[in-house]
Amino acid sequence: MPGHHTDTHFEYLRDDEAFQELLRHLAEIADLQSTAALLGWDEQVMMPGGGRESRADQKATLQRLIHERRTSERMGELLELLADRELPYDSDEASLIRVTRREYQRLKKVPQALVVELSRAASDGYHCWLKARQDNDFRVFQPALERIYQLHRELADALGYEEHPLDALVDAIEPGLRTADLERIFDALRTELVPMVRTISQHLDRVDDSILRQHFERNKQLLIGRKAVEKIGFDFHRGRQDISVHPFTIALSPADVRYTTRVNEHDFAQCFFACLHEGGHALYAQGIPERFRRTPLRAGASAGFHESQSRLWENLVGRSLQFWEYFLPEMKEVFPTQMKDASAEMIYRAVNKVQPSLIRVEADEVTYNLHIMLRFELEKAVYDAQLTIADLADAWRDKMRSYLGVEPSSDLEGILQDIHWSGRFGACFQSYTLGNIIAAQLYCKVLEQHPDLPEYFRKGDFSPLLSWIREKIHAHGAKFTPEELLLKATGERLTTRPYLDYLKTKYSQVYNVEL
Ligand code: ZN
Repeated sequence: MPGHHTDTHFEYLRDDEAFQELLRHLAEIADLQSTAALLGWDEQVMMPGGGRESRADQKATLQRLIHERRTSERMGELLELLADRELPYDSDEASLIRVTRREYQRLKKVPQALVVELSRAASDGYHCWLKARQDNDFRVFQPALERIYQLHRELADALGYEEHPLDALVDAIEPGLRTADLERIFDALRTELVPMVRTISQHLDRVDDSILRQHFERNKQLLIGRKAVEKIGFDFHRGRQDISVHPFTIALSPADVRYTTRVNEHDFAQCFFACLHEGGHALYAQGIPERFRRTPLRAGASAGFHESQSRLWENLVGRSLQFWEYFLPEMKEVFPTQMKDASAEMIYRAVNKVQPSLIRVEADEVTYNLHIMLRFELEKAVYDAQLTIADLADAWRDKMRSYLGVEPSSDLEGILQDIHWSGRFGACFQSYTLGNIIAAQLYCKVLEQHPDLPEYFRKGDFSPLLSWIREKIHAHGAKFTPEELLLKATGERLTTRPYLDYLKTKYSQVYNVEL
């Protein structure tokens, strides 16, 4: 039969007909999913505004086909047939079956009509969000967001949960994690971060970032961002960089990985760190083994693990002194006038300036998680019926004032800043905080084994870090749950300690204060 034995990588079940049929089903599903992802990339990067309606139709049709295939009767039968195969837990085959079964059981609970509605609501939501941004008015987006919330509420009910409706949505992207776990994590962070921000806030003038606020030409920013991403190990023969309203990364396969950035000509950090952040996601996607292509194992372990990769390169590497000792000469070549009097120390301090501010993606490492907590708490309050969608913009302003002491003067600087709620409401942001925590745990571990890593950064050699991450994380794709993968890589469960220690050490030095 054509297509039989196309994948010779799965050795254990090479002659198992049910397994081979499963692989063929999964390959088709993966192709449909990559096609849907490409349509999404095109919509955000290339599509003229007029394409909006036909794109919504195309995406809804694809989502229906994908859902149909992922929950088909035959899929259920194949999983049933494969239930008694004795395989090592860690093997690719066992993992593939396990992950497919988990997804099958979850998706089976979701009516197809809801899948189509969710897709349409997201298409509509994205364009309403863009329009609301143009008008700088949340009310333009509000009806679309209400619809998105209602549908996600239905989704949570369909999926089922024991404690909280958000559990169903959290579990879909962070397998095994619950809302209550997140609340514990946020409590642990809040207890230490709020006083830290307060202490540093008394000495904000100790760090000057005016060097980053000069005029930096757009094309040159794109060029130097690309150069940095190439230096950390991204292969541009198997990927590309583009521009979009909100930076993002998609992988059509490990050999076709695309990330985007955006430029502010008066703030160097925006484009550069968006490149490093998305570059981190993109490195993860390029590091997925080729044999997982066209299988559910081609993804990362979870959204939080994906963010651990972006935050690792963006912050632990890109905001280190050693990185700038290496990279400053590159900067001087592209921006000779702006960087005329710059030293590595000066740039290092500037890119680590703490400033309670309005925009999440531009937030420093110390205040960043407060932005996430705010969003998580607002989502939860809506699900708990303590807040309506109509009240969100005001509630946003109140929380900004109490957590960060700043208040948006417009919706653009407040509730309209992130793309996330344009397609989904609930469990949208926790992955960033989980990513920060996991990145610190991984970095702490790799430093135990390679204490001289920063010395390599100073020479512009990021390969020892990338090799370690490739072996411990990327090589496993989606085989393991986040908890299993973290245990395997670090010997520990999720803990905020390394992350908080990292922040304390770094920022007490940068600000010369006791934290
Ligand atoms: Zn990210």
